[in-house]
Amino acid sequence: MTFPSVNAALANAASVNAAPPAAEPSVARRRPTRAVAVRWGTHVVRVGGDAPVVVQSMTNTDTADPQATARQVRELWQAGSELVRVTVNTPEAAARVADLRDALDRMGVPVPLVGDFHYNGHKLLTQFPECARALSKYRINPGNMGGGKHRDDNFAQMIQVACQNEKPIRIGVNWGSLDHELMARMMDANAARPSPWSASAVMREALVVSAISNAERAQELGLPGDAIVLSCKVSQVQDLIAVYRELSRRCDYPLHLGLTEAGMGSKGIVASTAALAVLLQQGIGDTIRISLTPEPGGDRCREVIVAQEILQTMGLRAFTPMVAACPGCGRTSSTVFQELAASIQDYLRDQMPVWKTRYPGVENMHVAVMGCVVNGPGESRHADIGISLPGTGEVPAAPVYVDGKRTVTLKGDTIADEFKAIVEQYVARRYGQEQGAAAVHRPGVVARQAD
Ligand code: SF4
Repeated sequence: MTFPSVNAALANAASVNAAPPAAEPSVARRRPTRAVAVRWGTHVVRVGGDAPVVVQSMTNTDTADPQATARQVRELWQAGSELVRVTVNTPEAAARVADLRDALDRMGVPVPLVGDFHYNGHKLLTQFPECARALSKYRINPGNMGGGKHRDDNFAQMIQVACQNEKPIRIGVNWGSLDHELMARMMDANAARPSPWSASAVMREALVVSAISNAERAQELGLPGDAIVLSCKVSQVQDLIAVYRELSRRCDYPLHLGLTEAGMGSKGIVASTAALAVLLQQGIGDTIRISLTPEPGGDRCREVIVAQEILQTMGLRAFTPMVAACPGCGRTSSTVFQELAASIQDYLRDQMPVWKTRYPGVENMHVAVMGCVVNGPGESRHADIGISLPGTGEVPAAPVYVDGKRTVTLKGDTIADEFKAIVEQYVARRYGQEQGAAAVHRPGVVARQAD
């Protein structure tokens, strides 16, 4: 393979008629789907259609404890979860769902609740009608509803409750609880093929068939087609991609994406991101949930932040200003810039509950925190606002760049607070409803004037 010379490339770039060397990067157009409305009161979250990809999460508290669960739902909602799912596994849990909903309403938290049902959902939804009313959507796992006629009756009972209460559902198929009878039938049919598929190919096909056939059955039972979301969760990245591609090819129900049992820490984040990014890039996926196993005592909101960061770094949605920070190297042996980068990231996220209503568009702001003068000034100039900290042996001064121009140089022990004050002033000036509105100052901190 030969490459064009530098001179040829420059000549091409200088030509007014030259086409760009590569197509503009872009995500594939979202696959068209029905739009499903998930409501609580006047608060409506739309999944599918032309709605943005919705972020959702799930509590890990005991739903029978409505106060603890309400606190966690509020935290997840404040972190940005647009739907929150809760386990409804026992009569005790079902009996307290209405209390949970009341507690959230008193807190001013309108996020719709999704009830997660397995095995006994048909009983709980009929024995606790106030639970059925307080939930905004039901998750039904067709693999966990008994066998034979019982399974059909139980499924029909849940659909009947959904119809009566005008609630949407998610048919949530999971490879770990795949309908055994369906799988056995499909394995038998596969064995009779002249060239049988692999067992994993049969499993993937069974997931897709289970999801679509149950959705069609729900429609036959009277549930509107625009009240059904589908998911087919598996724990392997390549299987998930293959299953959802097939699902999206064969139906137009909105799709809930998620890698089940993704795992802990970086493994869970990387595996989820690898799978979901491929699908989202292809326009597949209408709502996402990141199934991270929290560290002991860890923050459940991490799964919401990861979901948002996947969508934002792919350019699909914007939630909070992004901080570009260099990885650091031998040129910056102190931890000052790491601490500043972390502090700025936390600070920006903490401001968002207020900023997102006061300063529309601030979520698109780019902030750079760099460790030295090698790439620092360049990256800072490309950000809306950036700071380049001194590397080892460099002059102990941190130039700040605003809209590409160097404005001020910070020094001393108060760089972090002064930089945050500059960010606040910038946000108020650029995104405030009234252009030129007075900058919001943090107590005791005044940003310096330009050099
Ligand atoms: S910007 Fe400087 S400190 Fe950061 S990685 Fe590059 S050379 Fe190292």
